[in-house]
Amino acid sequence: MSEDMPPEFPIYLDHHATTPCDARVVEAMLPFYTTNFGNAASLTHEHGRRAANAVEDARIAIARFFEVQPNEIYLTAGATESNNIALNLLAPGDHLVTSAVEHKSVLAPARRLEKKGVELTVLAPDREGFIDPGTLRDAIRPNTKLVSIEAANGEIGTIQPIGEFAAICRERGVLYHTDVTQAAGKIAVKIAGADLASFSAHKLYGPKGIGGLYVRRGVRIEPLIVGGGQEKNVRSGTVNVPGVVGMAAAFRIRKEEMAGEAERLTALRNELWERITSEISGAFVNGPRELRLPGNLNVSFDRIEADSLIVAMRHFSLSSGSACSSGERGPSPVLTAIGVPEPAALGSIRFGLGRSNTAEHIAMLVDDLKRIVAKLREISAA
Ligand code: PMP
Repeated sequence: MSEDMPPEFPIYLDHHATTPCDARVVEAMLPFYTTNFGNAASLTHEHGRRAANAVEDARIAIARFFEVQPNEIYLTAGATESNNIALNLLAPGDHLVTSAVEHKSVLAPARRLEKKGVELTVLAPDREGFIDPGTLRDAIRPNTKLVSIEAANGEIGTIQPIGEFAAICRERGVLYHTDVTQAAGKIAVKIAGADLASFSAHKLYGPKGIGGLYVRRGVRIEPLIVGGGQEKNVRSGTVNVPGVVGMAAAFRIRKEEMAGEAERLTALRNELWERITSEISGAFVNGPRELRLPGNLNVSFDRIEADSLIVAMRHFSLSSGSACSSGERGPSPVLTAIGVPEPAALGSIRFGLGRSNTAEHIAMLVDDLKRIVAKLREISAA
């Protein structure tokens, strides 16, 4: 960071990539690093039993948040792992249906499975990122085993009709998996209708490296990692006790604070939307007006390269898309899938508002954007 930057900067506006861990979450975790450090599988002594009890209490809190049963929640190292485990139930000859707007941790294992003989259908979204339930219905074949479509998109904020997808899958006898990583803790999501659902703590003010997979009772899955047989053989490896305790604390807090926060962030986001599109020429919003994650706004700026804009906007932590793919060159696959032309996709910024953001931040952001977009356009026209 440059030396003349006041301490309140940079302002964090990338809450889809990750969120700060809530101080209350950290406080709940601390004893499980120090005094209650036991291995949750060491049931022969009090240290282990304390850890095991904490893990089971946490599982109950997480299950309560999602309105499912505690024995349907499996702990993992995050949503990437959960998505990989969910797709691992496919075998050569099975058919998988997913969508072009999924996170890479669904699309990459899907492509790998295709190479191993799994039939793959990748559904195209409409201009706003929605997958049409009718298209899903038509894509299901006699050998379709699994449908995997996310609850909400981390780049353009589109909230999918997962209840409808789940109903179609149930009716056709197909398993339905949904990645709720970007939705959980931000909007109400009903995973009970699905067969499997992936989530991650660090998107909802919890710690990194911990997440989970909901597996409806009776659904058989194939582990990716085998060993000590923890998590009923679904995910071997010593359970990250502080992480699980932190994830449960994060879910408990979100349960209380989510609705109010969603309303506040929607208002801030709408203010940002109105101001950018009315005060900056050649600025276009990607993604839907309604059914959009509260803190999400994705904007393409004409005659601007997002990379240059992000560097110049040094008072703000911004990104152009998914953290997992923003290191790569080329337009975002999500923007390409919804039909954004390449120059507009390369000129797009994803704003991710979260708990720490205020109306003052929005005002400062718009001021800087106006000035810097104009300056960059002047330079490129010269
Ligand atoms: N799915 C979605 C929709 C995501 O946004 C992310 C994180 N960018 C992941 C999965 C991966 O989660 P994790 O970081 O816990 O592996």
